[in-house]
Amino acid sequence: MTKHVDSARTAGRKHLEGKLEGKVVLVTGGGTGIGRAAVLAYAREGAKVALAGRRSAEIDATAHEVALMGGEALAITADVSREEDIRRLIARVNDHYGRLDVAFNNAGILGNFAPITQQTSADFDEVIAINLRGVWLSVKYQVEAFLVQRTGGAIINTSSWLAKGASVGSSSYSASKGALDALIRAVALEYGDQGIRINNINPGIIDTPMAHSSLPDASAFMPFIAHTPVKRLGEPKDIGDVAVWLASDDARFITGQSILVDGGYTIAGLR
Ligand code: NAD
Repeated sequence: MTKHVDSARTAGRKHLEGKLEGKVVLVTGGGTGIGRAAVLAYAREGAKVALAGRRSAEIDATAHEVALMGGEALAITADVSREEDIRRLIARVNDHYGRLDVAFNNAGILGNFAPITQQTSADFDEVIAINLRGVWLSVKYQVEAFLVQRTGGAIINTSSWLAKGASVGSSSYSASKGALDALIRAVALEYGDQGIRINNINPGIIDTPMAHSSLPDASAFMPFIAHTPVKRLGEPKDIGDVAVWLASDDARFITGQSILVDGGYTIAGLR
C-alpha cells in the first residue's frame, strides 16, 4: 500500500458512519453500475466488503476505491451462473473474513432485448442462467452459510421494474426478474425464524452501462424521464443506499418484499 493510499485511508475513516460497522457484506456484479455504488455505500457504513464479478479489472478498481476511502474490500472473480464459482466465492469470503452477514446478489444481464420471435432459446437460457439460476444458487449457499454460523443474515437481490411491468423485448428478462420476486417469498417463509431476511430491490431506469446498452443514444432516455414523477433517471447510488438500508437493523421487520425504487416510474395508470 502506498503512502498516498495510507493517508487517504486515515482521512477517509473519519467520514465512516458505521451503520454496518464490522459486518461482512458480499456484492455480486460489484465492479460496475449499481453494484459498484453499493460496494462504496456498504464500505461507507463500515462494512468489510467482498465483491465478485467476471472481470477482474473492474472489481479490482472498485476494491481500490474502497481502500482509498479507508475501508476493507476483497475482489474475487466469479461467474454467478456456475455453481462451483458460487461455492468457491462463499468459501473464500469465509476464509478471508471468517463470516458472512449480508449478501447483495446484484449481478445480471439484459440479454438479447428483442421481441420474442427474434430471440433464440439460447438467448433465453443465458438470461435465466445468470439472472435467475445465479441468484437461486447464491441464495442457497448464502442461507447455508448463515445457518452454519447461527447468526441470521440479510439477503438483497436486484430484481427490476420489468418484473412488474413490461417493455418491447423484455420477455426473457422480465421472466427472469419476475421469478426472483416469487423466489424470495418462499425463502422468507422458510428461514424467517432463523433470523434470515430476504428482499428484492426493483430498480427503475438507472444510469448505468446496462441502461445505456439498451438504448441507441442518451436522447432515448428523454421519454423515460418525462414519465418519471421525479423527472430524472436513477443514479446507481439511489439503489446502493437502499441496499444498505435493507441490510441494516433499520429494516429488521421487512422480509419477502420486492421494493420498487424507480422515482415513481411504474405507478399504475401514470401513462
Ligand atoms: P451493469 O452492467 O453495470 O452491472 C451488471 C454487473 O453484473 C456487471 O458488473 C457484470 O460484469 C456483472 N455480471 C454479469 N453477468 C455476470 C456473471 N455471470 N457473473 C458475475 N457477474 C456478472 O448494469 P447495472 O445496471 O448496474 O445492473 C445491475 C443489476 O441491476 C442487474 O441485475 C440488472 O438486471 C439490474 N437492473 C438494472 C436497471 C438499470 O436501469 N440499469 C434496472 C433494473 C434492474
